[in-house]
Amino acid sequence: MRFDILTLFPDFFSGPLNYGILSRAIATGTVQIATHDLRAFTHDRHRTVDDRPFGGGEGMVLKPQPIFECIESLEQKYKENNINQLHTRKNECNKSIIEIAPKSTRDTSRHSVILLSAQGKPFTQATAHHLATLDRVVLICGRYEGVDERVNDLLADQEISIGDYVLSGGELAAAVVIDATVRLLPGVLGHEDSNRFESFGAADVQPNDPADGKTPDGVPRSTHGSGGILDYPQYTRPANFRGAVIPEILTGGDHLAIRRWRRQAALEKTLRNRPDLLARAPLTEEDRSYLATLQASLP
Ligand code: SAM
Repeated sequence: MRFDILTLFPDFFSGPLNYGILSRAIATGTVQIATHDLRAFTHDRHRTVDDRPFGGGEGMVLKPQPIFECIESLEQKYKENNINQLHTRKNECNKSIIEIAPKSTRDTSRHSVILLSAQGKPFTQATAHHLATLDRVVLICGRYEGVDERVNDLLADQEISIGDYVLSGGELAAAVVIDATVRLLPGVLGHEDSNRFESFGAADVQPNDPADGKTPDGVPRSTHGSGGILDYPQYTRPANFRGAVIPEILTGGDHLAIRRWRRQAALEKTLRNRPDLLARAPLTEEDRSYLATLQASLP
């Protein structure tokens, strides 16, 4: 998979991409990440990328021209001296990279051009799972008061927001999107189930399942896997830390009891922090009755 980032600050990414899982995925060639400096696509002496908004108002707006020209350069075969090839496996040449087609003919099942924007659709784990199926994703980072809307209309396939707050630029948002997506690529995490059984994980509970929500060992499936809700709390050694003792059930060796405790703890945390998730999560009868008990005990 390959990411191309269009930004005024290519050096910004040296930090986020150089640690842990991301840096390993780059080193093994699972992912390639190229940054493109938008100022390289300007034609005036001052390398101007912004201008005043039509209709008046505060601040400056990113001009369409450098962004269009940068994307158009990706529409041609990769030229090594054209981009700042910071974040790929050493000595690897990207000759195999396929072109990004113009929006009208782009195959969005393989490629996506994304404008990062506070006005975009919310970025979720489901979005990350979808992006992880693509070959190539282009991320456009805005700055100032934002980006000329024609970039959204004529270049971007989707407008994505990482949350209901306003950042000063799209670079942090791009790093978030890349991190959440790359860890879902096959082979990137050590254990293949790691990204299933965590917050917002794939549904593990099917209320209308003919198997009645049971795994072959007879243990209710509702008691492990997050199933679109938040993960359960985790504890590690020591069992007693400064007088704070972990739940005894976790050391008892009864795996069914542990699964049930974890499911209930996950439901409790979701009810407390993200009750909106419960409305669309697949829940079993056992889950519902536990939630009803919890709600009844709320003040
Ligand atoms: N005037 C814009 C508004 O009110 O929606 C905010 C512009 S913001 C200061 C500058 C850039 O930061 C945006 O063009 C976008 O690329 C990025 N940005 C800000 N908040 C974001 C968010 N929640 N998600 C993704 N990108 C964001």
